[in-house]
Amino acid sequence: MTHLLHRSTRLQPRRAVAASGLTITDSEGRDYIDACGGAAVSCLGHGHPDVIAALHAQADSIAYAHTGFFTTEAAERLGDRLVADAPEGIGHAYLVSGGSEAVEAALKLARQYATERGEEGRRHVIARRQSYHGNTLGALAAGGNEWRRAQFRPLLMETHHIAPCFAYREQREAESDADYAARAAGELETKIRELGPESVLAFVAEPVVGATAGAVPPVGDYFKRIREICDRHGVLLILDEVMCGMGRTGTLHACEQEGISPDLMTVAKGLGGGYQPIGAVLLSEKIYDAISTGSGFFQHGHTYMGHPMAAAAALAVQEVIARDDLLANVREMGAHLRERLTGAFGSHPHVGDIRGRGLFQAIEMVADRESKAPFDPAQKLHARIKAVAMEEGLMVYPMGGTIDGARGDHVLLAPPFIVERADIDRIVERLARAVDRAL
Ligand code: PLP
Repeated sequence: MTHLLHRSTRLQPRRAVAASGLTITDSEGRDYIDACGGAAVSCLGHGHPDVIAALHAQADSIAYAHTGFFTTEAAERLGDRLVADAPEGIGHAYLVSGGSEAVEAALKLARQYATERGEEGRRHVIARRQSYHGNTLGALAAGGNEWRRAQFRPLLMETHHIAPCFAYREQREAESDADYAARAAGELETKIRELGPESVLAFVAEPVVGATAGAVPPVGDYFKRIREICDRHGVLLILDEVMCGMGRTGTLHACEQEGISPDLMTVAKGLGGGYQPIGAVLLSEKIYDAISTGSGFFQHGHTYMGHPMAAAAALAVQEVIARDDLLANVREMGAHLRERLTGAFGSHPHVGDIRGRGLFQAIEMVADRESKAPFDPAQKLHARIKAVAMEEGLMVYPMGGTIDGARGDHVLLAPPFIVERADIDRIVERLARAVDRAL
């Protein structure tokens, strides 16, 4: 009997009692390889001594100070670091406690930017189907996962969804990457025109789609086109890099590989690597300037924003990643992971696609490779794969996504950036066993 409301009232989660590197140990002494960083969170693995030392030092100096009264050295240094490493045009960082909070703050910053400029009519948010932006009401409204949204729809602000850029599912046969990128981005142009350009506030997208569709990278110059369309209509581009950002795809920010800069960007998960709950919104100078020369006050705020313990953890995580050149390892091990996945599943009758970037890779399960038909959702294949993988001592992140209204299954891998070749070999061997046992 537990007094905690867990995610499921039917399944009692195992109790984790210790963790080190890639391994989490439960109360029965069983070890699990963390091949997904929880939910693409644990980028440094578990129990990193440098992060723990930084947390001790921060707790010894000051553990909390409300931002209505004080700023702290840790928060200031993290803000400086985030901006120094940010895409062009980003001039400021706003620190929150996680991804959903970051998305909420980004939406409000966008709206306040419009109102400070006297563009009161800008209110429509456009996002993409097969996206996840968080579980709070604003973020849930932006997200496109109907399974998560359905029962809460009466509480959600109106948002508009266009097709994602999802080559495996949506690119037509004989359609070139360039043509497909143009067609997919063209949906944004059409939607903006339909709503009336002067009424559209922002477009929100994950550069590499994470939880809802499974490590789906964009095609060709899709995001360059999106950037151009947003600029032409005065629509703000919000990139949600909560899952795919902070090094996960091999560059610090996933949008670097697209050659564009957003107006607002959200980061979380890998920012603090799970050592503390933390997220941030990175905002462009123009948004800061509009608020600064206008009301001078961002009308938002949370009790734990800029938390010094969280900022100290994030600083330590980011310093270790830079010092140990772990992004090079993400690229090298990402290529090895892809190679091993291709070897294990490239001709598997029930794996339709293998995709991703860096240490953010997924396999998509299909009932039939030829027709790409998903498994019957009632079979809950993704849940079975997760359960069997745990029996094999492996943590992976399977999900049932939404594919044209039907649910499809994929398995996401996002191991810590410290992963080595032998770990990857072990991960893929266990996953192959788990998939075959679950089918
Ligand atoms: N945005 C994206 C792209 C995510 O993947 C997630 C979480 O999975 C969120 C936002 C929400 O983050 P959090 O769970 O920290 O609130």
